[in-house]
Amino acid sequence: MGWNPRWSALVSQVTTKSSKPLPKTLPGVVCAQRVRCGKPGCRCADGQGHLAYYRFWREGGRLRKCYVRRADLAAVQAACEARQRERGALTEAWQQWRSLAAVVREVSR
Ligand SMILES: [Zn+2]
Repeated sequence: MGWNPRWSALVSQVTTKSSKPLPKTLPGVVCAQRVRCGKPGCRCADGQGHLAYYRFWREGGRLRKCYVRRADLAAVQAACEARQRERGALTEAWQQWRSLAAVVREVSR
């Protein structure tokens, strides 16, 4: 038995997964906030501060906040947008179901 090309596809999938721990979709939105690092002598002490990115989302009715590293910014933003698209598609399906249910009510009257 030789090397199955499907195996190499499987291997590359595993390696990309382990090197990219970020999930494909994430709840919430990414917002930029000004922060002060508190280091003595840093210009942020009396200036505008540093621009830092945070992801905000709701979990169990509470607002959660998570720091987003600059290196992860693009990936996290993409994951949030993917989740919003997913939820948008769900809303559309729900609206279709409701209009369908109304039609069924009309017919069965
Ligand atoms: Zn600073």
